[in-house]
Amino acid sequence: MLNFKISELIKSDAATKNNISNMPDINSLDNLLDLIFYCLQPIRDKIKKPMIITSGFRSNLVNKLVKGVSNSQHLKGQAADFIINGMAPTQIIEKIKTCNIDFDQLINEYDRWVHVSYNKNNNRRQILKIN
Ligand SMILES: [Zn+2]
Repeated sequence: MLNFKISELIKSDAATKNNISNMPDINSLDNLLDLIFYCLQPIRDKIKKPMIITSGFRSNLVNKLVKGVSNSQHLKGQAADFIINGMAPTQIIEKIKTCNIDFDQLINEYDRWVHVSYNKNNNRRQILKIN
């Protein structure tokens, strides 16, 4: 299967459009690698369909531009939003629930995308829905 590249988690349309940097610091980079290794890649391997990251790491400025909450795990490199073509967020979450994949939060956001986070020190395994 295709492997994740760190660039998929750093690229940001908001940053490109506004010509600002979206470079993670070393701690966020470390968290992004954990997120890929323990969450995103296992999900991609399990579902075996193209998975598109719509938002990964966010610098403070990028987070403001996309109106993210101020304590967002995206700011620490602990979260990613993604879509899978041909699968609704509810279906994706149902599938992940049946797998032995660790996560902190799994959120169906507006029935449009899935937010997944990983926090090596405190994975709560919460499943939520935002309408
Ligand atoms: Zn998110």
